Amino acid sequence: MPRMVICTHCGRELEVSDRAFSVNCRYCNQRVGVEDHVIQSYHSVTNIETGGSISVTPTGHVRAKLRVQNLEVAGQMYGDIVARGKVTVYPGARMVGDVRASRLEVKEGALLKGYYRIEPIPGTFEK
Ligand SMILES: [Zn+2]
Repeated sequence: MPRMVICTHCGRELEVSDRAFSVNCRYCNQRVGVEDHVIQSYHSVTNIETGGSISVTPTGHVRAKLRVQNLEVAGQMYGDIVARGKVTVYPGARMVGDVRASRLEVKEGALLKGYYRIEPIPGTFEK
């Protein structure tokens, strides 16, 4: 099943196969990761960029700037986030950082610290 992802470099839509881990953007010719990540342990990096989704489980602890399609957080997330799709925050989650997303769902019992700007994000990512 092909699916649509957003190029993390130029923001245009690309069709990729379900099993692809990355594609070369046919507009800007850069490599675009499209994996979905499930993070279950401590993970500290500068940036995570993917046209796919990231899920932080209750045992996950992420310190990174994220640029993703969708994000689900049930553990700890420290860093600024841009999610073109939806951010979902589960009970017991801790989110510290500024968040920009098209949609936000927060369950009772989550802790949020940061500036939230929730509005439809046009196709192009801000650099
Ligand atoms: Zn591109």
